[in-house]
Amino acid sequence: MTTILIFFAGHWLAAVLAQTLFLHRYASHGYFTMTPFWEKVAYAFTMLAQGPSFLNPRAYALMHRMHHAYSDGERDPHSPVQQKNFFKMMWQTALTFDGIQRGQITVPEKFDGNVPTWPALDRLSGSWFYRIAAGSLYAFFYMAFVPAGSEWLYALLPLHWLMGPIHGAMVNWAGHMYGYVNFRNSKDHSKNTLPIDILIGGELYQNNHHGRANSPNFAKRWFEIDYGYQVLRLLAAMRVIRFTEKSLKAVRPLPKLRGLKPVTG
Ligand SMILES: [Zn+2]
Ligand SMILES: [Zn+2]
Repeated sequence: MTTILIFFAGHWLAAVLAQTLFLHRYASHGYFTMTPFWEKVAYAFTMLAQGPSFLNPRAYALMHRMHHAYSDGERDPHSPVQQKNFFKMMWQTALTFDGIQRGQITVPEKFDGNVPTWPALDRLSGSWFYRIAAGSLYAFFYMAFVPAGSEWLYALLPLHWLMGPIHGAMVNWAGHMYGYVNFRNSKDHSKNTLPIDILIGGELYQNNHHGRANSPNFAKRWFEIDYGYQVLRLLAAMRVIRFTEKSLKAVRPLPKLRGLKPVTG
């Protein structure tokens, strides 16, 4: 049983990191740059980590940029304010995502460009062969390690199969419904759901993120920890990634003014 629970936690963590670091902070916002080699490594890692529910990075980025631009308005692709039923919101999100990926939904040009693509991998990951093969691997692992009498563990299998959309749903729904607010001037309904977001790598600091969308660090108060950002700092120290000047400026604390009044106007 311990093997299965460790496997589940490991898969959860890998999928969270793939989504928050590669799909969200890199593909959608471009907080940092990578060499073509490391970009391919991150692309392949995301495909393996999300398995059968791999979310195409270009479609993810375009849809997410629309979410920021129209947040909680009528044109937001996923908003619990607009769509009060959780399952309807998820279904609508899936249809929009699929439409963008297939080119059946036209996204305004301003949201496109500067996104990682890898056509060969996209073709493979979008095929039923890959989805069924990747999904079967989890099932085989369970068949090998679920001990007799603990068959209830098989109930976790669908969570492996749908890991990417489950993480997306948690953020899209809870992050705009439940929690506290640091940035009241944010024009949407975003919330910080968890004071310490260990579940989803910093993604549930939605209010901080919408309030300061240029910052790669989603934690803003002393008790908030964005461990996704801490992993990025480590990768930057190892020279795998390089933060852009814009993001470095956004995380730098403002200099304290001693006896001086800020110049305005
Ligand atoms: Zn974002
Ligand atoms: Zn949001």
